[in-house]
Amino acid sequence: MGKVIAFKKPSLQEKHKGNTLCRRGFHKWVLESDKKFDVKLGKLVTAWRCQRCGKRRTKAL
Ligand SMILES: [Zn+2]
Repeated sequence: MGKVIAFKKPSLQEKHKGNTLCRRGFHKWVLESDKKFDVKLGKLVTAWRCQRCGKRRTKAL
């Protein structure tokens, strides 16, 4: 029992820490897909996703 609680605590803190960074705008962007054509923008974009909060963004080239 004690072990389970001890294991849970740090993982929750870690998650919170990550979300705080994300809320401050420090996302951990990882490349999700390479150059693809965005019809709305009418140009090539790369898709990025935040490893912590899952937020997505596209960057025009
Ligand atoms: Zn994020």
